[in-house]
Amino acid sequence: MLLAVSHILARIYILEMESIQSLRGTRDILPEEVGYWQWVASVAEETLARGNYQEIRTPIFEPTALFERGIGEATDVVGKEMYTFCDRGDRSITLRPEGTAGVVRAYIERKLFANPGVQRLWYMGPMFRYERPQAGRQRQFHQLGVEVLGSDDPRADVEVIAVAVDILKSLGVTNLHLNLNSVGDRTDRQNYRQALVDYLTPFQDELDQDSRDRLTRNPMRILDSKDERTQEITRDAPSILDYLGERSQSHFERVQYLIKELGISYTLNPRLVRGLDYYTHTAFEIISDDLGAQATVCGGGRYDGLVQELGGPEVPAVGWAIGLERLIILLQQLHQPPQVTPELYLVSRGEKAEANSLILAQKLRQAGLRVELDLSGSAFGKQFKRADRSGAVACLVLGDAEAIAGTVNLKWLKSGEQTVFNQVDLIAKADQIKQQLIANN
Ligand code: ATP
Ligand code: MG
Repeated sequence: MLLAVSHILARIYILEMESIQSLRGTRDILPEEVGYWQWVASVAEETLARGNYQEIRTPIFEPTALFERGIGEATDVVGKEMYTFCDRGDRSITLRPEGTAGVVRAYIERKLFANPGVQRLWYMGPMFRYERPQAGRQRQFHQLGVEVLGSDDPRADVEVIAVAVDILKSLGVTNLHLNLNSVGDRTDRQNYRQALVDYLTPFQDELDQDSRDRLTRNPMRILDSKDERTQEITRDAPSILDYLGERSQSHFERVQYLIKELGISYTLNPRLVRGLDYYTHTAFEIISDDLGAQATVCGGGRYDGLVQELGGPEVPAVGWAIGLERLIILLQQLHQPPQVTPELYLVSRGEKAEANSLILAQKLRQAGLRVELDLSGSAFGKQFKRADRSGAVACLVLGDAEAIAGTVNLKWLKSGEQTVFNQVDLIAKADQIKQQLIANN
């Protein structure tokens, strides 16, 4: 009784304390969801390994200048979305808003270009952008990305697209569309930019505020505007595809030919310009019908100018990033959450049995079984109920008598059937038991 009262008092006390909430635009990935994340990671790792892509892990914060130079100051990401602060040593630091700039910095700084052949790299991790949070849009979000550095062959463009499609397919995601464009090289873009500005200038006053600002700074980004009136105006704008020089044109034709040969369907979208400044030639995105407003799952393209822009040699490159939150929203619509449950649930009662239970659990785990140990010390009946709820296939029952005899009862939870084992035998037969547990699941 006393114990119960003190329990209730403790609860009231906790409720009165003001609790701290997570920041807007961030979220916890709880154990019931984390199975999806682990599944994506393992499918991605397997698929990428088959293409000889190697993982790279770069810091989560970098000098602000890296992103200013690598992404471009006129972009939304740099202009409005970065988490930038001064550290205690007065350096301007930014939480990475994307992965490419850091990978390219590492590629240059660690001289990966001196390795023979093409570098195929992948990364996975959190990114940070100060945006208005919505479904599929957060301030801390996660990307899986690949970068292929050192090839200007159209096959590299198509390989990365095919790898993204493979990963998404292996996860069972369908209802996807590939949108494809070429943004040409620097010269093509200069010519196009002028034509676009000439076309848009008469409509200047009707554009949304952001687009008006971009007209001088970064006019191609206007094609990306989400404003309805601006979209109406840009519908009849000149197409970048009419401004591609000979080299850009033949690169893009080859890319399209190879994509068709692989049996991947796509739509040409000359308005697809991507948000980032360093893209050249191929630009693409993979969108889903099942995501509402935040439909882009994967975005990428070629960025032949970036390595040099960041102080490295002239190295062509191509890559993409998949937004993992959006991918997982899709997986949740398609599949039950993958869950790892114990194979065996160990119940025990009595002083000797309880000490024995921990040792037995450890030995079985070391032999390869997934074992949950009941720590409650409550009556067997209550422990059995928890065993049923745990998802385990069988239960191990240990009382003082068994502990003294060195035996244990294995009880199949569905049938109630029981077998007495010598503990040493059970550990020795762990492989065989595991097969039986899998067969009976
Ligand atoms: P959007 O137009 O949706 O803002 P973006 O062009 O800014 O996308 P990229 O920089 O190309 O996106 O990033 C690649 C992918 O990362 C996107 O296609 C999306 O799936 C995901 N992504 C980007 N920003 C966010 C975010 N704030 N929250 C969740 N996912 C994001
Ligand atoms: Mg964005």
